[in-house]
Formats: sequence, structure tokens, C-alpha cells
Amino acid sequence: KEFRNNVKPNWCPGCGDFSVQAAIQRAAANVGLEPEQLAVISGIGCSGRISGYINAYGLHGIHGRSLPIAQGVKLANRELTVIASGGDGDGFAIGMGHTVHAIRRNLDITYIVMDNQIYGLTKGQTSPRSAEGFKTKSTPEGSIESTLSPLEIALSAGATFVAQSFSSDLKQLTSLIEQGLQHKGFSLINVFSPCVTFNKINTYDWFKENIVNLEQFPDYDPSNRVAAMTKIMETNGMLTGLIYQNKERKSYEDLAVGFKEEALSKQDMMLSRQDFDKLLTEFK
Ligand code: SF4
Repeated sequence: KEFRNNVKPNWCPGCGDFSVQAAIQRAAANVGLEPEQLAVISGIGCSGRISGYINAYGLHGIHGRSLPIAQGVKLANRELTVIASGGDGDGFAIGMGHTVHAIRRNLDITYIVMDNQIYGLTKGQTSPRSAEGFKTKSTPEGSIESTLSPLEIALSAGATFVAQSFSSDLKQLTSLIEQGLQHKGFSLINVFSPCVTFNKINTYDWFKENIVNLEQFPDYDPSNRVAAMTKIMETNGMLTGLIYQNKERKSYEDLAVGFKEEALSKQDMMLSRQDFDKLLTEFK
């Protein structure tokens, strides 16, 4: 099972996205997927390039729209395992409407966000994940907007799988992606993925000092939504690990009445001349 291809990533040396790529490749192999069973759909941003760096079906979509495309892929061919991916600007700014509704829809997709708390591709502007006071070219006096908390929003929107990890912790990240791929429903995995070129505040060292690993709390129960929300708030969103999982709620595919067992991609979609004429008559 070879998820590596011969395309050399053009990320900056040291970019956190390299680890996310490696973790996806390892996790896909570890859960027993073959390259032709996986589709990776990405948005726009440095992280959006990832769909071209994995040996699987891939589509580098448009800004903030990885999730609508990924949902379309999954609806058309439920036999594919679908990963959507992008950055924090892609998913939590322009794409936030799609993110919230994909969460509550609960289609069986794994959404991996490379959260570097800045816009890297456009050379360093404040993102929704940047801290208050964060200085960039777009906020030279420091950001005066509050920082968006994707984990809290996901829980509020009815997420059934919420996890967070760090590019430096490849073991944890790989394990969480494996769990996300095996979860029957929408899984959000937010990954602290440092932008070494433009974000000189949220560095690898900064994350190492500030991250709170759930391993510190052996009694933590990820099926308890209230406890999950409380812990996220107590740690100012810096929690890593499997934060919440609801195994009871059925996925969209399981709940949709009349959703055919056979993938749309395998059905004969050709209209007979008779049906076509009937349709034309109805629309006249
Ligand atoms: Fe990574 Fe930042 Fe370089 Fe983009 S600009 S490739 S996010 S280090």
C-alpha cells in the first residue's frame, strides 16, 4: 500500500504540513486502505497542495470549498474513503459556513485542518485563528478581533468526532487520523501545523510549551460532551487528543431515506428516450 507518489512538495523546509502528509499516508495504510479506495479533496492555501502529494484520488479545489466537493464525492461514491483538508483560513474563514453544516450533516468524511494561525500562501496575514494582538501586514497594530475556537464551534454544531493534534507528534496525529477514518460520520481533526516562514509567534517551541495533552487526564471520558466543552475552555483550546466522540449518532448515509445501497457512480444514469421526453413535457 503505497500512498507516496513522486511529487516533491514545495512547502518551505520545516513547514508543519509535511507531518500531516506523512500521517495521512501512514494512517491510510494502517487502516488497510488501497490508494484507489481513498480520495483527498483540498481547498486553497499552502496546505491545499496536499491532495497532489498523496497517491490516491485527489482534487485541489477552490478556496473554502473542499467540503462541498468532498461531500459530493462521498454521495456519488460511498465506497470511497474521503478526506477533506485545508488550512484554518480556508476552513474557518471563507469556508466556515460549509464547515458548520458539514459537521451537523454528519456525512462519513474526515476533515483535517492544518491550523497555522496565519495565511501563509499570501505571505502572512491575520487569520481567524490568530490571537488577539497578533501583528501582521494586515494588522500592523495587532489584531483587535477575538480568536475563533473551532473545537467549541464543532461541539456546538453537533459534531460526532472532534480531535486535535500537533505536527510534531506524528504518533498521536497518525492514530487520530486512523480513528477519524474509522469513525462512522464526520470527523474534525484540527492540527497545529506551524508556518515557519511567516508565523514567528506560534512556533514549534511555543506549541510545545502551551499544548495540553489529554494523556494527562487518565479519567477523561471522550463520550461526555459537556466535559469536552469544559476541558476545551479550561485549556484555552490547546487540548490535544481525542476530545469527543459520539458513536451512537448515525451518519447521514445511514439516516437518509431512500439513499440507495449501490453507489451512484455504479448506477446506470442514462435516461431512456421515453423518460427524457416525459421530463421535457413536465418542464414545458
Ligand atoms: Fe508552510 Fe508557511 Fe511555507 Fe506555507 S509559507 S509552506 S504554511 S511554512
